[in-house]
Amino acid sequence: MVKLISLLIAIPLMSQTPDLAQLERMTARFAPQTLTVDTSKLSPGDKKALEKLVAAAHVVDHLFLTQYWSGNQAMYAKLKEDHSPLGKTRLNYFWMNKGPWSALDDQEAFLPDVPARKLPGANFYPVDMTKDEFETWAFKLPKAEKELATGFFSVIHRLNGKLVAVPYNVEYSADLKQLGTLLDEAASSTDNVTLKRFLTLRAAAFDSNDYYDSDVAWMDLDSPLDITIGPYETYNDEIFGYKASFEAYVNLRDEAETNKLKFFSGHMQEIENNLPIDAKYKNPKIGALSPISVVNEVISAGDGAHGVRTAAYNLPNDERVTVQKGTKRVMLKNIQEAKFHAVLEPVAKRVLAADEQSDLNFESFFTHILAHEMTHGIGPHQITVNGQSTSPRQELKELHSAIEEAKADVCGLFMLQYMFDHKQLPAAEKQLYTTFLASAFRSLRFGLNEAHGKGMALQMNYLLDKGAFVVNANGTFSVNHAKIKQGVRDLAHDLLTLEATGDYAGAKKMLDTLGVIRPEVAKAIAKLSDIPTDIVPTRDVLSR
Ligand code: ZN
Repeated sequence: MVKLISLLIAIPLMSQTPDLAQLERMTARFAPQTLTVDTSKLSPGDKKALEKLVAAAHVVDHLFLTQYWSGNQAMYAKLKEDHSPLGKTRLNYFWMNKGPWSALDDQEAFLPDVPARKLPGANFYPVDMTKDEFETWAFKLPKAEKELATGFFSVIHRLNGKLVAVPYNVEYSADLKQLGTLLDEAASSTDNVTLKRFLTLRAAAFDSNDYYDSDVAWMDLDSPLDITIGPYETYNDEIFGYKASFEAYVNLRDEAETNKLKFFSGHMQEIENNLPIDAKYKNPKIGALSPISVVNEVISAGDGAHGVRTAAYNLPNDERVTVQKGTKRVMLKNIQEAKFHAVLEPVAKRVLAADEQSDLNFESFFTHILAHEMTHGIGPHQITVNGQSTSPRQELKELHSAIEEAKADVCGLFMLQYMFDHKQLPAAEKQLYTTFLASAFRSLRFGLNEAHGKGMALQMNYLLDKGAFVVNANGTFSVNHAKIKQGVRDLAHDLLTLEATGDYAGAKKMLDTLGVIRPEVAKAIAKLSDIPTDIVPTRDVLSR
């Protein structure tokens, strides 16, 4: 999960606590969007299970508030008592951030009498503990205790002056008992064997603090009612990145997109065979692609529901599981669609030429995201440089992410064009390229600090130089449909060849010259400053 924090859209604060007007402006950066999910096709058993899982998501919210800051529960209770306009706005923004710090403003406080910024150790460590103190202590512990102390599933307390690790099943026992009961009840309602298995094992994990078997069962989940629930990501532990925060995503599988993915999987070898690179770099037998699941979110909670909303996630993180089973990517289609309406549509209105507006299309947007994910799995992975077996990642080092993200974007375009040309998909060329052009601006708004932004700048400038994208006299942008196909082919060739040859110097030159924001692009981005940054699902606002 990538958390984007944009300097462009941060509202300059906060020498003092924001007043009502300021806080309203800050809140408006999240456009309310209603998530629609069709539950009518669920079996009666799954419908009952769904109710239990939504209730479990609310428990996860409560648990996460505790994990995020020691003062959170008291602050939340206090804010609920304040019925003034400022009080209500504060409560709303607190709930969107799951704490008193603003995710879009570098985690600065927006409430009085709280720490000025989010605490690096959240509520996982004593506030007065130093890194050195922890390491000195943990290093000397016997193996099992050291594993607990440095593991995902414990908090560190200070007891009589000494550090001590407390496992989650003890620390959060009340919330976890409630969660276990709800998951067991859902397990007894559902008629899906894989879901029943996951829920039963995960309920047991809440009790035992051993998540291994349930993580394995999650990888095997194959069910119309889909759920991710438990302690997962470690971003909130900014001291060590050890401690996992609780999150929940209660989802329904999207059957049409699931079938589309199966269709794509069956064609990936054919796409590899036709990639625009020298035949000697092609892989005659591509490896197994890691599983992707497309779902629609009913509700998300806890760490999965604060700040910028998650549109896709890769789990699990536990290496004991990933070496054995790999990871699964879950894509939240209705969240992507909500972001498309709230952010990409207004972006397109300002950056695209008038006659291109009608080609903007969510179907093209989402199909390209799927193609992007699929094409990460093809192209050069095992390469030979100076007689040594190596990988593009090892050779391109810190440049690899930006090159690989750009490669997946253009190879995704290439793949869909190939499928249009071979009548494997209904042709929608104009929609594909025009939507891609608009979405480039959506990514570039977040700056170049991160691989996707840098990779997107590279593509934008390359395609401008090829005449495949053009800047109009009024500052808007268009696709030149006579040149775009060849432009994409050339760019795919260049990126794939950099990876195939492990050409660090070539990658550096390309990123140095093209991974920049040029004046005409900067001008277009400057027109986007008042467009929402992200969404907030309306059912989630003040959900209790
Ligand atoms: Zn990617």
